[in-house]
Amino acid sequence: MPEEYDYDLVVVGGGPAGSSAAFAAAKNGIKVALIEKENSIAETVRTSGVTWIESIKEFGIPDNCYNPIKNFSFVSPNNEVTISDSIATAAVLDVRKTYRWLANEAEGAGADIFLKININEVIKNENNDIIGVKGTGPKGEITFHSKIVIDATGFTSVISKAMGFVTQWKRFGAGAEYEAIVENSDPDTWWLMVGQEYTPAGYAWIFPLGNNIVRIGVGVGKPESDIDPTQRLKEIIEKQLGPIKKLGKITPIEFHYGLIPNDGLSRKTVFNNLILVGDSAGQANPLVLEGIRYAIRFGRVAGKVASDAIKNKKTDEDALYPYEENWRNAIETKINSAGKVQDRWIGLSDKEWDKELDIIKELKTDEFLDFIKADFGLSNMLKLAMNHPKLAVRQLFNLVKGK
Ligand SMILES: Cc1cc2nc3c(=O)[nH]c(=O)nc-3n(C[C@H](O)[C@H](O)[C@H](O)COP(=O)(O)OP(=O)(O)OC[C@H]3O[C@@H](n4cnc5c(N)ncnc54)[C@H](O)[C@@H]3O)c2cc1C
Repeated sequence: MPEEYDYDLVVVGGGPAGSSAAFAAAKNGIKVALIEKENSIAETVRTSGVTWIESIKEFGIPDNCYNPIKNFSFVSPNNEVTISDSIATAAVLDVRKTYRWLANEAEGAGADIFLKININEVIKNENNDIIGVKGTGPKGEITFHSKIVIDATGFTSVISKAMGFVTQWKRFGAGAEYEAIVENSDPDTWWLMVGQEYTPAGYAWIFPLGNNIVRIGVGVGKPESDIDPTQRLKEIIEKQLGPIKKLGKITPIEFHYGLIPNDGLSRKTVFNNLILVGDSAGQANPLVLEGIRYAIRFGRVAGKVASDAIKNKKTDEDALYPYEENWRNAIETKINSAGKVQDRWIGLSDKEWDKELDIIKELKTDEFLDFIKADFGLSNMLKLAMNHPKLAVRQLFNLVKGK
């Protein structure tokens, strides 16, 4: 007998967006299913896990889930800069621990978690609106009926694609990374490495987790470059380029690979009975390809809006629109500005990167942090563009705010 279930809300995808949506919806008192295709939550890690301590605190993520970062080092072929903060503001997450904590929170609030279920079909009503999903699990075919579905399947956007609402992302980042034990690592300092030898469109990184464990990775912008990030990662480790040399012997313990959308905030994210959240909605900062805190934050908003709509018995696009309004108000301008900086960075030659690092040296710590977090409000940017004592910084921010 095929398995069949009835839920108020079905959330497909047990990443940070899905778990957070399921948590907020279950907490609001409706019947929620959270469905994940892998054997466990975060079985496969597809991210470097850098985020910000302010957000970690806001979400209530436990202190044992991250390594704090105080120093931000950049290296280009012939230049280097380190911006230091008196207290740690950034963090490298223990991704598995954090994502499992998020899923446990959802379960604790009353959501049912289904693992090993690969959703591959949508169920529609006579108006072509979604009213459930189908997939395959250990016992064969499985069906979930629901009033609303949240597509939190990440880059692949399985549900929205099956509905015919979206096609594959055209512009995206591809990243490969080793989690490795090394001989020497400063647990307070991350490294971003730029220039042709590291990657022709993107950046390479060393993110420390403490206890001499680091994540060393390479990100490549597609379609701008056809370089394979895994191959390039092996090469830069073999050549011991830049700060990689200082790590000493590198013993990989895990390999991570992932794709992240970089098409801007181009997608509509609410339809009748359907919400897109996290990477499926393209909610990422294109400058450093950062999406975890948006996935959690807007996952919670999606869960709350969906559960309110279900309680009010009105689940059409209009009823779900407050979700889209919320996230657009929060990040649209900032992400658009970050996109302009990215457009500038993606075309820089090695020499230009050396000069760009000279500009970054001129930023105060809080200016730098706003910049890298894409947290520049328009007024902040205008201030930098008009009043910064250094001409090069004024020019950079003029470019970012203009266009
Ligand atoms: C190389 C790389 C490095 C990154 N580094 C950072 C970083 O340092 N900091 C940061 O903030 N962001 C980073 N990101 C981005 C970040 O990982 C994403 O923005 C974030 O994971 C989005 O969360 P999500 O829940 O939307 O999607 P995901 O984390 O991708 O979760 C989607 C979940 O859905 C499940 N799923 C998919 N299809 C189905 C299906 N058909 N049925 C059931 N389940 C399904 C998947 O197994 C997965 O568990 C990086 C991305 C990449 C690729």
